[in-house]
Amino acid sequence: MNSGQQCVDPELRNRLFTEIMHTGLNTDSVTIPPELLEHANACPVCSSEYQEWVEKAEVGRILSRAREMIREAAQWDPTVQRRETNGRRFYFKAVRGASVGTLVTTDAEDKIITADEGSLDDFLRLQ
Ligand SMILES: [Zn+2]
Repeated sequence: MNSGQQCVDPELRNRLFTEIMHTGLNTDSVTIPPELLEHANACPVCSSEYQEWVEKAEVGRILSRAREMIREAAQWDPTVQRRETNGRRFYFKAVRGASVGTLVTTDAEDKIITADEGSLDDFLRLQ
């Protein structure tokens, strides 16, 4: 994608990547300090990869939430909703209010098939 191009400041690039992963994996959203954001906007190499890094961090966050939800549901945690149909299990846990949450589909042995963000309505429509 960035054939031959090099980041103008590898140290900032390193910090930017670390910060995206750290906040993306561990909190509800990716938050980047202004000086790193400035680099992400100004550097053609980093700006072309920024969105990909953010998406990777989000996928990682959703997956770790999904695993946690499955553990909680096994202990009958009431904050995790669960349905089962045709050998598949569906889990939903609200993250912000009731409208947005994490949706997980597993097989009958709780192996994750998909994990995504979605609403309670999405959860009720899954089959
Ligand atoms: Zn850069």
